[in-house]
Amino acid sequence: MAETLSLPGFVNAHSHAFQRALRGRTEGDDFWGWRDAMLELAESLTVEQVRVGYEQVYREMLNAGYTAVGEFHYLGAAEAHAAVEAASEAGIELVLLLAAYGRGGIDRFRQGSPAEYLEQLEELRAAGVRVGLAPHSVRACTRDWLEELGRYAAAESLPLHVHACEQPREIEECLAEHGLRPIELLAETGCLGPHTTVVHATHADAHELDLLAEAGARICVCPTTEANLGDGFAPVQELCERGIGICVGSDSNVRIDPLEELRELEGIARRRAGRRNVVSVSSLLCFGADEGAAALGLEQWPDVEVDLEHRSLAGVEDVHAGLVFGSSADVFV
Ligand SMILES: [Zn+2]
Repeated sequence: MAETLSLPGFVNAHSHAFQRALRGRTEGDDFWGWRDAMLELAESLTVEQVRVGYEQVYREMLNAGYTAVGEFHYLGAAEAHAAVEAASEAGIELVLLLAAYGRGGIDRFRQGSPAEYLEQLEELRAAGVRVGLAPHSVRACTRDWLEELGRYAAAESLPLHVHACEQPREIEECLAEHGLRPIELLAETGCLGPHTTVVHATHADAHELDLLAEAGARICVCPTTEANLGDGFAPVQELCERGIGICVGSDSNVRIDPLEELRELEGIARRRAGRRNVVSVSSLLCFGADEGAAALGLEQWPDVEVDLEHRSLAGVEDVHAGLVFGSSADVFV
């Protein structure tokens, strides 16, 4: 029996499992071009393909050290149940972050009204599924939708996840429509609070970061996907200076490796600061586990075992630092 070390399992706070199928494809000049390919794939999937495909992706996550996942789901109500079944088959803890999509995208993403959305959410809750609200973005949800969802999430103390400030164009459009930047609009519509997780926030400005800090909201950074899509650099140091909680997600699942997400997160911070050790190893491991669990409203989730005899850790003095800076997910048993 190999010698092992037990750690809190990594928590993948932001996943779109179906996008795993797009890894290794190179079409699309930018985020918006990639999005066209993603929409085409999303449109083509059947409920059965979701069930089978997600189970495979969730097994990969478990093998890579993630023991819980927040699935940010916008493929439809029947498909949400298929995702839940897939997670249960694979044996991963799942929180279904049901996306609200009022406009744009494709037909299967959209509900007719916030009431119809809340009906879908309540149906999942009644079936015993752990859920969170997920107004997709300020592109997909109008002010009315945001207000209604923000109210419901606060009243029910449920997690609320939302994409914001991933791309400059999204910010320009929000300014043109509302005279506010996306995170300012979320604050004004009651969508920012201690149960809120803003996904990306790559281009958030200082005022938006102050709003997040005041509200006690978190940010989910998805470094391997943000790199792949040319999103930009997360403002890691600015977040830490304000005491904003950070968690990580595999997002498009171009890579499934929590150590790589954490290493890249710190790598971004080091490149921008021009120095080493911007975030401590213990904080990085906390981002990878506890913060993700808190973002999903999970109090308990399974541990993970590290193979201390793995070649990546041979001769390493500080195992925790060796994990984050010198290992890949194959060190997990
Ligand atoms: Zn996403």
